[in-house]
Amino acid sequence: MSQQPLFDRLALIGIGLIGSSIARAARAQGVVRTIVATARSAATRQRVLELALADQVTDTNAAAAANADLVIACVPVGQSGAVAREIGPHLKSGAILSDVGSVKSAVLDAMAPHLPQGVHFVPAHPVAGTEHSGPDAGFTELFVNRWCILTPPPDADGVAVERLAAFWRALGANVETMSAEHHDLVLAVTSHLPHLIAYTIVGTAEDLAEVTRSEVLKFSAGGFRDFTRIAASDPTMWRDVFLANKDAVLEILGRFNEDVATLTRAIRRGDGDTLFNLFTRTRTIRRGIVEIGQDSPAPDFGRAHAALPMAPLPRPYAADSE
Ligand code: NAP
Repeated sequence: MSQQPLFDRLALIGIGLIGSSIARAARAQGVVRTIVATARSAATRQRVLELALADQVTDTNAAAAANADLVIACVPVGQSGAVAREIGPHLKSGAILSDVGSVKSAVLDAMAPHLPQGVHFVPAHPVAGTEHSGPDAGFTELFVNRWCILTPPPDADGVAVERLAAFWRALGANVETMSAEHHDLVLAVTSHLPHLIAYTIVGTAEDLAEVTRSEVLKFSAGGFRDFTRIAASDPTMWRDVFLANKDAVLEILGRFNEDVATLTRAIRRGDGDTLFNLFTRTRTIRRGIVEIGQDSPAPDFGRAHAALPMAPLPRPYAADSE
């Protein structure tokens, strides 16, 4: 335990990748005294018990939320309204209710109407994740050196916002506050559109599989493989993200389509300068991301290859000593 608990009782409604990472990190850092958790299915609740992720596992969302000082909904965005309706009447006065949804305006609209007076609603989005789901997928360090964006409504209680910010900082995150609308536009660019592109490319390649047969997989290291990781992300979560952030995604998608049209024309006309200038700009952006510590400079995105068979390098690639 590294510090005094910030909250007595933390309730996690939904405990998959994000919820279980919060549970692991909150326990490791000693920021809460008691963790109570629940999930929709009995199978997940059973798994949470086996992994000992919480002090208590309840059968219903209402039972988990009752008497909690901090309640965090860690469910797909499309479930936010239903969860708020269930737990609203059971939240204690003075409690902080938050969430981790990847879209903020829609979550605010869906949850706020179900909350009683005296409950502090502070939506949040930890910008950290992987393509895996469920309570086994979480890990203690997920939020370290990642951003957590808080989107409190304009009339939010400042003390409650600061308490939630302190919670996320204790889990290792950097905290920033902005409006829900601004969040949704920024994330449409940095997260939602990249996922849409990955889903599209992998789908297109799959449609062409008849032409290319297994070559799509065999030669995937040519770039395709990196898209497949993103395109393996949870279908429920991402369906909900695109439905909930429709306006911002359509706005950014419109601009993206214009840029694709420009590149298409450059390729057709043999305009190498346009291609070269763009690729030079984008390489600088990548270097900037590495410089601020948001990714590793190691080649291949720093992934280890321990599980891959290490055949000796064929000549002429191998050095003399190999
Ligand atoms: P996940 O691993 O699929 O976990 C979702 C959890 O929610 C499961 O425990 C599920 O229970 C539970 N659940 C679903 N509907 C419920 C309901 N009505 N009542 C109670 N529990 C319910 O998903 P995740 O990746 O942790 O994502 C959770 C949220 O975090 C999403 O809103 C997502 O937008 C956001 N987020 C995700 C990432 C990421 O990279 N994955 C990053 C940042 C934010 P069952 O297992 O029983 O179905």
